[in-house]
Amino acid sequence: MTPKVAIIGAGFGGLCMAIRLERAGIRSYTVFEKGDDLGGTWRDNTYPGAGCDIPSHLYSYSFEKYTSWTRRYPGQPEILGYLEHCADKYDVRRQIRFSTEVTAAAFDGSHWQLTTATPGAEPEAFDVVVMGVGQLNRPHLPDIPGMDEFEGTSFHSARWNHEHDLTGRRVAVIGNGSSAAQFIPRVAEQAERLEVFQRTPNWVIPKPDATFGPAAKLAFHFIPGLQRAYREWIYRYAEGTLYPALAQGWSQDLLKKRALNHLHDQVKDPRLRARLTPDYPPGCKRVVIDSSFYPALCRPNVDVVTEKIVRITPKGVKTAESPHEVDTIIYATGFRSTEFLSPMRVTGRGGRDLAEQWAGGAEAYLGISAPNFPNLFMLYGPNTNLGHNSIVFMIECQVNHIMACMPYLSQGMRLEVRPEVMAAWRDQLDAAMARMVWGDGCQSWYKTAEGRVTNNWPGPSTLYRRLTARPPRPAYRQV
Ligand code: NAP
Repeated sequence: MTPKVAIIGAGFGGLCMAIRLERAGIRSYTVFEKGDDLGGTWRDNTYPGAGCDIPSHLYSYSFEKYTSWTRRYPGQPEILGYLEHCADKYDVRRQIRFSTEVTAAAFDGSHWQLTTATPGAEPEAFDVVVMGVGQLNRPHLPDIPGMDEFEGTSFHSARWNHEHDLTGRRVAVIGNGSSAAQFIPRVAEQAERLEVFQRTPNWVIPKPDATFGPAAKLAFHFIPGLQRAYREWIYRYAEGTLYPALAQGWSQDLLKKRALNHLHDQVKDPRLRARLTPDYPPGCKRVVIDSSFYPALCRPNVDVVTEKIVRITPKGVKTAESPHEVDTIIYATGFRSTEFLSPMRVTGRGGRDLAEQWAGGAEAYLGISAPNFPNLFMLYGPNTNLGHNSIVFMIECQVNHIMACMPYLSQGMRLEVRPEVMAAWRDQLDAAMARMVWGDGCQSWYKTAEGRVTNNWPGPSTLYRRLTARPPRPAYRQV
């Protein structure tokens, strides 16, 4: 029997799953995509300067060698182009149902019934569901009083308003994470005045970008093993130097020193420097990797405001100390990262509601499988985010695990992770988490309001690869 597989989301995760099924000759899958195009986060985040701060030769599928990257850190259009290239090359686009949002997945004792937002559509039954919706897919808008009263134009960084010309505008940016750091230099060039409202400073390290000219591209293409060796070098460098910093090991001081040097090199005004210096260990929040962020903050038309925002008024942003009149507000306030799979309603065996099961924080074995939810697998699920390496690597590990389950699923089995396996997993995660830098000292999108780190993987990614490469069957029981 060939299992009928539903894949939800056509971003890096969902496409990887589809391609691997396609290559294994399992064509009985459907990809549900709520947007009208593929690409996930790389379709949604089109703000000026959007790109990836993980080098492209690593931030790509291991099975799809791509030698056309134009630069070390490519922009959003190029990454989206890569995903389109993969979808076409592996012929998975025909299996994607665009503009079809899955609103509910319910296990009826033998199958998963998927309900979509499409008017008049009946629920559809599947043997297996693979969630590929990502962690950063739903913009977070802050709850600041008066936001509805603003008379100018406002939007979230992940829903950029390209119709709104920023030339000559007075702009407020709320937030200063990785997204803001990428677009602020572009906005600063256009706007008459830019005020960046910073609640907490971030650690920032340089981004050593470079272009790949025709000679480099030819070399990657024609010299056997060169591209793979380069990819491997980037991976090992991140793993060997950045991971120990997050685990509060030997390189943490080096990371701090690198960031402080970068700050001193780029920001000469000691008062601004003081405002931009974090008071928590580097890595606690996602480190910003960018070389043009600080220079933009030093421009005469840019100000970094650290006073607390008390409300949005019709004319701008009011802080505890003064009003700031602006005509545009850009919310670079991140994503609803800890609400995994939400707002989809997921109901498992015995009517168990996944949101209720996760009331204390999302968790899943390997970040992939949750007890009471047989044949439901997650990509980039709980505790699989990295602060130091490529998520595409993690996604491929997860897809490997799910593919290793396929022979059993093809026999019609319903696999559910054993409760004792889940309990042991939780204990291991907690023990590993204790040594990581994310726990105390800062708030971040990695954790719930109660302080449980639900998003990050606390080990080296090499360990995750080993764990996901083990034969999966012993961890599961048949239900
Ligand atoms: P983010 O890192 O979550 O940053 C959100 C920002 O908004 C923070 O500065 C936060 O301040 C601020 N904020 C939130 N609520 C606020 C409020 N009520 N009042 C004032 N400030 C508020 O979001 P992001 O920049 O979109 O990045 C999210 C993640 O996406 C990154 O960490 C990264 O993993 C990924 N990303 C990656 C790349 C890449 O190149 N690979 C690029 C962009 C994004 P606090 O710090 O005080 O909370």
